[in-house]
This record gives sequence, structure tokens and C-alpha cells, in this order.
Amino acid sequence: MGKGYLLGIDIGNTKLAFGLVGCNERRFHEKRVVPTERELGAEQAIEKVLDNTRELLATAPGEVAGIGIAFGGFVDATRRIGLSSPNFPGLDNVPMAALIEDLAPGIPVLMENDANAAGVGEVVYGKGRGHRQVLYLTISTGIGGAAIFDGVPLAGTQGLAAEFGHMIVAPNGPGCTCGSRGCLESLVSGTSIGRIARERAELHDTMMTGLAGGIDNITAKTVSIAARQGDGLAREILEEVALNLGIGLANIIAAFDPDIVILGGGVMNSADLLLPPAIEFVKGHLTPRGVKVPPIEASSVHDDIALWGAIALAGKAAVNHSSSCCLVDLVGVGR
Ligand SMILES: [Zn+2]
Repeated sequence: MGKGYLLGIDIGNTKLAFGLVGCNERRFHEKRVVPTERELGAEQAIEKVLDNTRELLATAPGEVAGIGIAFGGFVDATRRIGLSSPNFPGLDNVPMAALIEDLAPGIPVLMENDANAAGVGEVVYGKGRGHRQVLYLTISTGIGGAAIFDGVPLAGTQGLAAEFGHMIVAPNGPGCTCGSRGCLESLVSGTSIGRIARERAELHDTMMTGLAGGIDNITAKTVSIAARQGDGLAREILEEVALNLGIGLANIIAAFDPDIVILGGGVMNSADLLLPPAIEFVKGHLTPRGVKVPPIEASSVHDDIALWGAIALAGKAAVNHSSSCCLVDLVGVGR
């Protein structure tokens, strides 16, 4: 058999990313990123996915053994349909895998939501390698989560398992994007950190106002920069964020007893400020009853993790299809 390739497709709200990787390799043979251009509508975005996929398939120097899709929204992974995307109205009930299979008959296709895909990506290409029970959280605009057991994302009855962002951390806390109150996301996401900082900056002196050029421009990034420069309010805010993150982590570790917890997303640019106090909290609450706290680590794969996840799914699709060329070390496959 000639050298095989895996094709990953990451369908996000702002960008569409495509990556072609040699089986068993860990760097891109070719990578392409194009804007999603939501304003042009769902049909145009789908056409763009299909056009780029067609072009990449044509450039592969060898056989493409599998294709994986990470979809930024709700996914029925069994039927391989993108059900809806909260930030992309109209992108509903898209049979993405079937559309890709029409382009590439005979190549197996797997599809997951982007958080599950990223979790699988961590298991194959990131810090989850060699671990059978991996919890993954991505903390950026919102919070996504995945529980990957033996390489397989836990789906739940409705495909909504491991939505760690919407566990309740403070019942009377701020309103959440989901309509509830006090979810982890409403206290710890990048959007929430920015909102909390703007509210507090109205009441207290802080260098954040000057750094951002006005209270309205303060974001999570401003908080991080100001905290590093010793701003008292910024430090206080990050201490609270770390505490709430610690509560969330203690809860999911108590529920799942994982080998490792991996955290990704833009907020983890402040991992050095947030993780040590969050881990202290977790230890303080879990060790008294004899729980060994697993490693809790920031992801080592940064911007492209959902795309690497799609590529990992492509590897799983190939292995499930008994293609012999791919990813023999993929956790849980072939056991
Ligand atoms: Zn929520």
C-alpha cells in the first residue's frame, strides 16, 4: 500500500480550516484556512467546504484513507448530521458527512462537534496520548467539554454529554448564554471575564481602563495583562475566576475519575495565573476523601486543536474501515 493521508475539516463560525496529514505523521502536508463568511448564508458556506475539500483531495499525493469533520455546533454523531449552530442561524440539519462522501466515494467519514473532536485530537496528538480516560475543556468565548474514554467521546442520550460549561457553579450567579444562571461558562469564559472586569472597573480604580482605552474596551486579555503588571482589581478578578474554575474541575473529577484533565482555548493563555490556584482548590476538596488528583494541564496544541481533532477522527474512520496504514497508537482503536 502506498503512503496514506488523512483529511481533517473544521467547520467553525468564523473560519473553515482544512488539513491534510500523512498517516502516522504529526505535521501538515497542506493546511488551508478560509473565512466562513456567515453573512453569505449557510448554502454558500457548505459550498465553500465542498469546494475546498474537492481541491485538497485532488492535491493529496497518495490515497486518502479517512476524512474527519469537526462541526461548531450540535451534532448527531451517529447520523453524522450537523443539527444546528447557535452562532450561525440557518446552518441546520446539514448532512455534512454524506455530502463529503458524495465527493469522495469509498473514503470513510466521521463527524463530531468541535469540542469532542478537540478532545479526540488531544488524545491522538496532544497531552492525552497514552491516556484512556481524558476530560477536555476549551475555555474561550464560551466553554466546551468532552469526556473521551478509550478514544471515544461520551455522547449521552441527546448527544449533550460533557457540557461542562453549563454545570451550575453559583445558583444565583450571572445569566448564561444557555438561559440558565451561574453556569461555569457565565463565570469563567473569556466573555464572562471581560464582562466581570467592565462591571468592576465602573466602581474601582484600575489600570485596565487605561490599558484598554476605556472601560467598554476591557476584555479578558486586558485583565490578564493588568494582572501581570500587578493591578489589584485584575488580580482579584482572576483569583475569583480560578476559584470558580477549581469548583468546576473538582466537580467533574469527582464525577469521572479521569487519568488527566486538559484545558485549551484562549483563556489558557493565562494558565500560569489560573491553574495553580484552581488545582490547589481541587486538591483541598478531593484529597481529604483519598482521591488522587489527576494531572490538570493546559493544552500543548494551540490554535489548530479542532482541526487536529478532525484529522484524528479521519484516522479513526480509516482504522474502523480497516485501512492498515493509520495511527496504530490511537487509543482504544484496535483493542
Ligand atoms: Zn449555561
